Amino acid sequence: MQNLLALLGIDVEYVRGEGNTLYFLDEAGREVPVIDYAGGYGALVLGHNHPEVVATAESFLRSGNPVLAQASRQPAAGRVLARLNEIVRREFGTTEPYYGVFSNSGAESVEVALKHAEFDRQLTVRGLLGEIAEHVERAREAVRSGAATLPDGPDVDVDALVDRVTAANAVVAARPPVLLALEGSFHGKLVGSVQLTHNAAYRTPFASMAAQVRFVPFDQPEAIAKIAEEERAVLLDLRLEDGHVRVVERDFPVFGALFMEVIQGEGGIREVTAEQARTIRQACTAIGCPVVVDEIQSGMGRTGAFFASSPIGLQADYYTLAKGLGGGITKTALTLIRGQRFRPEFDLVHSSTFAKDGLSLAVTLKVLDVLEAEGGQAYRQAAERGDRLTRLLRSLVAAYPQVLKEVRGKGLMLGLEFRDLSDAAAPRLREAARADMFGYVVSAYLLRAHRIRTFPTASAVNTLRFEPSIYLTDEETAALEAALRDVCARLGDQDEEAFFGP
Ligand code: PMP
Repeated sequence: MQNLLALLGIDVEYVRGEGNTLYFLDEAGREVPVIDYAGGYGALVLGHNHPEVVATAESFLRSGNPVLAQASRQPAAGRVLARLNEIVRREFGTTEPYYGVFSNSGAESVEVALKHAEFDRQLTVRGLLGEIAEHVERAREAVRSGAATLPDGPDVDVDALVDRVTAANAVVAARPPVLLALEGSFHGKLVGSVQLTHNAAYRTPFASMAAQVRFVPFDQPEAIAKIAEEERAVLLDLRLEDGHVRVVERDFPVFGALFMEVIQGEGGIREVTAEQARTIRQACTAIGCPVVVDEIQSGMGRTGAFFASSPIGLQADYYTLAKGLGGGITKTALTLIRGQRFRPEFDLVHSSTFAKDGLSLAVTLKVLDVLEAEGGQAYRQAAERGDRLTRLLRSLVAAYPQVLKEVRGKGLMLGLEFRDLSDAAAPRLREAARADMFGYVVSAYLLRAHRIRTFPTASAVNTLRFEPSIYLTDEETAALEAALRDVCARLGDQDEEAFFGP
């Protein structure tokens, strides 16, 4: 990464951050401001060093309250969960409680969902096998006592039948879960979560290390039903009916969970429609597959509601939260798990030394206070600022149709896709596009020439991300407009010297 940044001429060290501004020092030691549209890759919903969040962290540290007091009563954790449950109730109109498991990063909160879903599946399988074992013994006794007869088939006696059923069930029960995710998804880079991240460069080197994922085409959620057909597996059970033993099939829980973002972040800022969400939810409910909505980037208010999934009416079995939850100061992550699915035993199965630390909890409570203040002014502000930014970006697409393709996203989670320049006349622009570096080249130019910081999304490098804080000002928006007009004009002229030097 350092080499890449140096190559692009943007390996700056930032010495101060405030709101949407980062500062580096020039040769004379003077601060040079940069407007930050990368927003900590989505973590800075409240900007850099939000004064109330900083004051909370400072006062917590000065108070002498312990940061690490694991395995004790931690009422602040309960308060965070109570507030989030209020938000869930309000946004989804449900009364069902959600339990919470705290962790340290986005990827870890995804792995918590992954582990809990598997833990739940294993307990379900154990329950099913226990039930079947009882039925099998009842059938065996009935046949031995002469009260029932064996079904027609290959088995010479009841023990042979029982052995065959037990052996078949053992094979099915040992199957790893099938996981589902949408094409284009990004769910982290740890051993388990990276398999849910569609980008092959991140995922495939580690494919042998974790359960495999079937990717559902982004705009064809109806494919889930077909996958379910292909993956269907059954356990065998023995039923006694009118003096006969019958072998019957029981559906086996094949699926671990389906993971999705409602607005794909690293996949290029792509929104799932309400209709697609409905199809996914129905298909998953039909096959007993829990839905994990990853709100790590889209959540915490930046789209105009706390949960980006709430305006499209998608209620999840699990929500993963991180990034903005720590207010840009702490590494707070949380997995919310729907009451009807939560397995209390899990609390002991997954834990981490640093999770649920006192400082993070105090900061997160303050973040929730700031977001929820004045009846949710922060959400309204995100929507209003986002609309303004969207209008600006749309007007640029209209003005430079040969350079810009489209604007996507919602609120302050926006992506601007550039047209593919793989066949451009200018050789260096063409080569950059062919090497998947075009978005980085434009980002570097924006920083060098206009003191604007943004980056392409991780897996769709022709799309620049715009994820500023809710405190975005009109001046900051105007500066972006001037900078993007300049970029578009130069790209339209194939002025590659501007981007690469003479
Ligand atoms: N899920 C989503 C939707 C994300 O955007 C990200 C980070 N870009 C992650 C998971 C992983 O989070 P972290 O980088 O904190 O592990």
